[in-house]
Amino acid sequence: MKTTDSKKETTTKKAAPKQTVAKGVTKPKSNAAAGLAELFEDSLKDIYWAEKALTKALPVMAKNATSPELIDAINGHLIETEEQITRLEKVFELIGKKATAKKCDAMEGLIEEGKGILEETEIGVVRDAGIIAASQKIEHYEIATYGTLRQFAETLGYQEAVTLLEQTLDEEKGADKLLTEVAVNAVNLEAAELE
Ligand code: FE
Ligand code: ZN
Ligand code: FE
Ligand code: FE
Repeated sequence: MKTTDSKKETTTKKAAPKQTVAKGVTKPKSNAAAGLAELFEDSLKDIYWAEKALTKALPVMAKNATSPELIDAINGHLIETEEQITRLEKVFELIGKKATAKKCDAMEGLIEEGKGILEETEIGVVRDAGIIAASQKIEHYEIATYGTLRQFAETLGYQEAVTLLEQTLDEEKGADKLLTEVAVNAVNLEAAELE
């Protein structure tokens, strides 16, 4: 015969497997992604926030740059970034979701680091070299993100989204390559001559 106490105990034991996770394993939030489609949507929100943040950060970088090649590269990529935001809005539309931005902790940190580099460098080629370094970290984050997003879209069967995400991925790779060229041809050697 069961007592009230043992009934309580049984209830607790039954509920336990759903609520507890192994030590060191992060417990999911109530709205955690249950499938790849949801993870895709969450990742889109993250990069949507990141691209919007970049439309504000890039002009600051351009303003602080002195090399005309670097200024051109940043301004050119600002125009691309605005197109990338429009592309993301199209991808949201394709999956039937409202375009929403959710803070990207990584991009917030990368932009913060970029601002730090401005304070830590004299205006001129040295700051230019710092701006390039910070910008390339940003481009690499975006390359990783769009590579993943394109692959998710492929698996989920959103062929039009694959095309759009790939266009952006190519632009991010192009921006990274151009920054390397500016560093090698116009900035780094001159910066190395300074003390
Ligand atoms: Fe971008
Ligand atoms: Zn992000
Ligand atoms: Fe993120
Ligand atoms: Fe970019």
